[in-house]
Amino acid sequence: MKDIPNLFGSMVFNDSVMRARLPKDIYKALKKTMSQSTHLELEVANVVANAMKDWAVEKGATHFTHWFQPMTGITAEKHDSFISPAGDGKIIMEFSGKELVRGEPDASSFPSGGLRATFEARGYTVWDITSYAFIKDGTLCIPTAFCSYSGEALDKKTPLLRSMEAIDKQAMRILKLFGNTDARRVITTVGPEQEYFLIDKEVYLKRPDLVYTGRTLFGARPPKGQELDDHYFGCIKPRVSAFMKELEEELWKLGVYAKTKHNEVAPAQHELAPVFTTTNIATDHNQLTMELMKSVANKHGLACLLHEKPFAGVNGSGKHNNWSISTDTGINLLEPGETPHDNAQFLLFLVSVIKAVDDYQNLLRVSVANAGNDHRLGANEAPPAIVSIFLGNELTEILESLENDTDYHNMERDQMEIGVTALPHFPKDTTDRNRTSPFAFTGNKFEFRMLGSTFSISGPNIVLNTVVAEALRQFADILEKSTDFKSDLASLIKNTFHKHKRIIFNGNNYSDEWVTEAKRRGLSNLKTTVASLPEFVSQKSIELFSRHHVFSESELHSRYEILMEGYCKTLHIEALTMVDMVKREIIPACVAYQNELADLLGRKRTWGEYDASLEDHLLGSIAKLSSCLLKKLTVLESALLESKEERDILSQATFYRDKVFGSMSELRLIVDELETLVANKHWPLPTYAEMLFSVI
Ligand code: ADP
Ligand code: MG
Repeated sequence: MKDIPNLFGSMVFNDSVMRARLPKDIYKALKKTMSQSTHLELEVANVVANAMKDWAVEKGATHFTHWFQPMTGITAEKHDSFISPAGDGKIIMEFSGKELVRGEPDASSFPSGGLRATFEARGYTVWDITSYAFIKDGTLCIPTAFCSYSGEALDKKTPLLRSMEAIDKQAMRILKLFGNTDARRVITTVGPEQEYFLIDKEVYLKRPDLVYTGRTLFGARPPKGQELDDHYFGCIKPRVSAFMKELEEELWKLGVYAKTKHNEVAPAQHELAPVFTTTNIATDHNQLTMELMKSVANKHGLACLLHEKPFAGVNGSGKHNNWSISTDTGINLLEPGETPHDNAQFLLFLVSVIKAVDDYQNLLRVSVANAGNDHRLGANEAPPAIVSIFLGNELTEILESLENDTDYHNMERDQMEIGVTALPHFPKDTTDRNRTSPFAFTGNKFEFRMLGSTFSISGPNIVLNTVVAEALRQFADILEKSTDFKSDLASLIKNTFHKHKRIIFNGNNYSDEWVTEAKRRGLSNLKTTVASLPEFVSQKSIELFSRHHVFSESELHSRYEILMEGYCKTLHIEALTMVDMVKREIIPACVAYQNELADLLGRKRTWGEYDASLEDHLLGSIAKLSSCLLKKLTVLESALLESKEERDILSQATFYRDKVFGSMSELRLIVDELETLVANKHWPLPTYAEMLFSVI
């Protein structure tokens, strides 16, 4: 048996290592910087860097890197070794405070959306002291924020930290009004559940579409998919189990609280969930989790697919972002309290989220938009593109009774205390389960379920933190002026609920009736990435993000450009891959099989008396489909040529969505039909069944 408590965090320069290895005054200075975001003195940084290096070298590290999260959505690192010439042909291992706190990567090859011209290649990485350094593959990794020479954010961490400051500031104003004097900070917490597929690596390598685009661009439906519901929570196969065990151990070493693992709905689909932690750390840890999933899978002869929709016709993969707000003293502000007083505070935070989600539903939608997620949102197994909140009947009734000044009676428990000033007292675990809602209250947190599995969770949490900060700001502005706090508080909760209750929907979000009902309520239904991204640079969005100093207007525009470009590039690569596969693999297979059939047909005819209807029919069908194939291929190729014409980014993305993607879908239909006719020995690609059931 491994000693898990000792293994856990063994590769992390965490608090206990710092306490053990740093001189007392240095440790104190560092802690102060961490908790109060004060400036870190160079002398302190020098001592910390040296201690870090000694620790890392003892653990076998030879290099260090500033580990950052550029707009590519994955992490970046450039490794420098600790070696420094000592003059006598020897070297010493060195790491300075300056190297620890700041790096200067050549940033010109990372997406900046026009923020940084290539001649201004300089970008800075700055140590994020709130996230511990760790050792990965012999390299000491320093979590850093990445910005341009002029201080504009070029990454996913900087705005996340800013959004955490924004919600901290506004939530503290509210807590003060409730007489809370011990909380010094409010943080948001996140536990992201990560879904993924595992298939055999050999099968994976035979699918250029999976290798280049992460999803299958062709593939006829397998005879068996997920219809028997025999995979969900099913027993875990030994090979998968061995992978999961190693993954967990690697994550534990890095201080990631990997907690739950199980099989998901689709064949070959699995999930990992960690214990929640501070949003910033949860984001770093989720990036590490995704990275390790891939590398550990590789070691086990497996390929880990993180794409939102690797296979058509079975469930896609998402990420459930469990989110809550908490004080630094450990009080969860979305936990319904025990006393009417706590309840009032809880209800205020609850309605702040309701208001925020209603006011900024479009921004939440934007935060989960990318080409991969377009295959999920609105499709059958995923929440629709309409943002709504599931509250559960009990909480909804409590808020309704407040709204209508009526008594709330809980039939079974009958312990509500209702009034305008005294707010209800209600029991814990007030929510039932609803798996179809995109944004569900689950007892003491909200679960935002629209995220795609490849996403950095940073974006959605930046939006969540900021929109709730804005609702709290408006509340604090009203309540700070109040002369009768209790009564103004009650009417604020009541009015807010009244105004924003249209966003609450406790029914089945997958039903067609909901789409009609949502429309009647005036809720947005932004179905695609292209339809939703312009919301990011709307006046409303610019005002919100600049007010809370999360994104400047130019940062928003740059991100809009990057996201739109990313969308176009993804589709472009998919289309090129399709063309390539059709020309070099599918067509030759069809030709070979037709050749074989024609041969046989010819021979049968020469010999005279044999019935050749089967060969005749088959050859006829394949020949017909083959000419369709050629037509559809030509259409796609000309769409790709047309995509080169000059357009603004929005029309370009629209072109890709409608023309390029449209032609891709038509081409796919033909290929999938051919797959069902062409003999297995000629078909160049592993089938869906071969991929989905490749791990035994
Ligand atoms: P459920 O069964 O309601 O989905 P779990 O306890 O299994 O809840 O938690 C699901 C995820 O939510 C886990 O990753 C968990 O750590 C996370 N979570 C629980 N409480 C919070 C919280 N206060 N803030 C953020 N995430 C949380
Ligand atoms: Mg799940």
